[in-house]
Amino acid sequence: MSFPPDRILLGPGPSDVHPAVLESLGRPLLGHLDPAFLPILDEVVADLRTAFRTDNAATLPISGTGSAGLEAAMVNLIEPGDPVVVGVNGVFGGRLAEVARRAGADVHTVERDWGRIIEPEAFLDACRTHDARVAAIVHAETSTGVAQPVADIGAALGDTDTLFVLDTVTSLGGIPVEIDQWQVDAAYSGTQKCLSVPPGLSPVTFSDKAVAKLKGRSTPVQSWYLDLSLILAYVDGAGGRTYHHTAPISMLYGLHRGLKLLLEEGLEARWARHARLGGMLQDGLVEMGLPLLAQEGHRLPQLTTVGLPDGVEEAKLRRQLLDEHGIEVGGGLGQFAGRAWRIGLMGHSASERNVRLVLAAIADLLG
Ligand code: PLP
Repeated sequence: MSFPPDRILLGPGPSDVHPAVLESLGRPLLGHLDPAFLPILDEVVADLRTAFRTDNAATLPISGTGSAGLEAAMVNLIEPGDPVVVGVNGVFGGRLAEVARRAGADVHTVERDWGRIIEPEAFLDACRTHDARVAAIVHAETSTGVAQPVADIGAALGDTDTLFVLDTVTSLGGIPVEIDQWQVDAAYSGTQKCLSVPPGLSPVTFSDKAVAKLKGRSTPVQSWYLDLSLILAYVDGAGGRTYHHTAPISMLYGLHRGLKLLLEEGLEARWARHARLGGMLQDGLVEMGLPLLAQEGHRLPQLTTVGLPDGVEEAKLRRQLLDEHGIEVGGGLGQFAGRAWRIGLMGHSASERNVRLVLAAIADLLG
């Protein structure tokens, strides 16, 4: 068998990578301080600001996957003993809470069943009750397929001392993300979802309010590697370029190309593509009599959770989909484990051809 086998990546990430991005990964290396490389880094930063819809100076790609961005957002903004409120209605809210605990925060969770949103008012009530220093929530919960409403949360926290942290790992480039308009203080994403770049970098952005908190800390950031002020000394050209760690050059070539593809298509056009194809997939699944598990009206187009008929052996069927049709989808997690699939239509994977292929393959397998 040739390696790697032919696959269509329709799981929760990574998504298929555009050939132009793959080509960019194979280009000759430059040093991370080479004057020919630095303009590429500067363009990545500028294009990330456009993608996040922000003017935040502190916008950059963190070396590492989405979890590195998550950890960077939390450890830079939390000091031991800080009250922190976290919304938990899936795996990644739980991860935020765990990272906050490890950073020494006094964590209060607002929990909802998997597949349900967290009502903004309930989340804000918890922030007020606990006088939260940091309030964190997941925009696109990849474990459930729920799109969390966030605009009202940012608007209400904007004039308070609470810093609003948003997980945009699966939302950036897939559905509208409006960092400045929503008054988000820290957001992080991942390259391998709707940006369709391999896993390995985590775009992040921090507001001036967040940077002020960072500068006023009375304790050092618990992580040396993820200390934003040290990383910015390299990324921010205005301050001279101080070595912090060796930048992952090839990954930055890939992200550079992936962002150009996003902006050439246009953010709104890409959101519209995801909305149209996600709707087509979800309609097709419902026509087959399969239940959609995310709350109606709050379903992500780029990640669909679908229940399987009783008696179906989920893992076995998923393996058949991979072996016989070359299509990867994800199994259910947590409350959905063993009885659901997660079907991603992210970035380059979001095409009409792929929707038709996966619907036909599921119909074939379920007989
Ligand atoms: N947050 C969300 C919503 C995710 O979907 C993921 C990964 O799937 C992460 C965080 C963690 O990202 P990574 O697996 O790239 O570390």
